[in-house]
Amino acid sequence: MSTNHFETDAIRTQQPTTQYREHSVPLYLTSSFVFEDAEQARALFADEIPGNIYTRFSNPNNTEFIDKLCLLEGAEDGIATASGMAAMYLSMAALLRSGDHVVASRSVFGSTHQIFTVLFPRVGISHTYVDVNDDHSVWEAAIRPNTRMIFVESPSNPALDIIDLEWLGKLAASRNVILNVDNCFCTPYIQNPIRWGAGLVTHSATKFIDGQGRVIGGAVVGRKDLIKEVRYFARHTGPAMSPFNAWILSKSLETLAVRMDRHGENALKLAQFLETHPQVTLVKYPFLPSHPHFSLAKKQMKSGGGVVTFEVRGGIEQGRRFLNSLKMISHSANLGDVRTIATHPASTTHSKLTNAERAAVGITPGLIRVSAGLEHIDDIIADVKQAIES
Ligand SMILES: *Cc1c(COP(=O)(O)O)cnc(C)c1O
Repeated sequence: MSTNHFETDAIRTQQPTTQYREHSVPLYLTSSFVFEDAEQARALFADEIPGNIYTRFSNPNNTEFIDKLCLLEGAEDGIATASGMAAMYLSMAALLRSGDHVVASRSVFGSTHQIFTVLFPRVGISHTYVDVNDDHSVWEAAIRPNTRMIFVESPSNPALDIIDLEWLGKLAASRNVILNVDNCFCTPYIQNPIRWGAGLVTHSATKFIDGQGRVIGGAVVGRKDLIKEVRYFARHTGPAMSPFNAWILSKSLETLAVRMDRHGENALKLAQFLETHPQVTLVKYPFLPSHPHFSLAKKQMKSGGGVVTFEVRGGIEQGRRFLNSLKMISHSANLGDVRTIATHPASTTHSKLTNAERAAVGITPGLIRVSAGLEHIDDIIADVKQAIES
């Protein structure tokens, strides 16, 4: 039950205590559940009573994680998945049919891009990409009679451009299209797309929700009628989250509010430092007044989040030199960890794109993405500074 306080809901949403009177929820590592009698088995399979049957369908640890996430996102229902990509794929494949069309922002996660451009065309689902910074009229014109879904990430990765979710929510409603928002960069603590009209919110729980770089997981939450179809699809195709990961991730949600506050604080301080450095030609962070969508970010986000991007003078070579000079900060492709992570998108995560494709999603040759961790901010800034100056 919601208290309307994020921190309390994140901690006090728990599975019922067992006969052992444990304080912290136990790990339910069981593949199936026993029936009390034949009648209960029949009623469970007929969906006449709620309850666990088999862990591919549901498990107490998964239920706790998803119930909590639904409360935090303001969602009616949801389902936990084995990875963020399982969530992205399910949220679309469960609802789209051959002949349907999706309008998506061009700057989506790499594997989401593969779904749109390679896998969906095989089954007759088409898409139109729109640039995050395109005029509203371009988004409106992209919607066709067979468009069934709008899919976006805001802030975009790695350019950190912001989409007006309230406007997009109204557009989706007026055209009877499902708005699906990948909210992985923000987590429910920073942004709640359902409030602005999203029918579905998708997550990679691997990032800030876990927050400690341990497990892979994902979730789809949203409108009850949509989740019903997603659940049917998941039950029979099998991308269930492991109960062990659900146990970890439910505990991670308990500390999400304090962690995201500090991620945001450290990222803002790092961005402010970078703005003053003569070797840095561009800094992008949603809560810097210099961000092109600063006021929009302030309206729909509680903080600027944990990710900062910047450009060092000297292009791709200087970008690589920066990464090779880091002493403490990790060079990894992940984000949303207690450890600060730096990535050079042009030579790694987005290296398969052409220069023109990279430019279209805001990736310049020298662009560096930093996911600010929870180390002391002085140590984060000192390492970034020495690497820029090396
Ligand atoms: C990481 C990520 C995903 C994919 O999540 P996995 O848990 O790695 O499968 C999807 N969207 C965004 C924005 C991400 O950062």
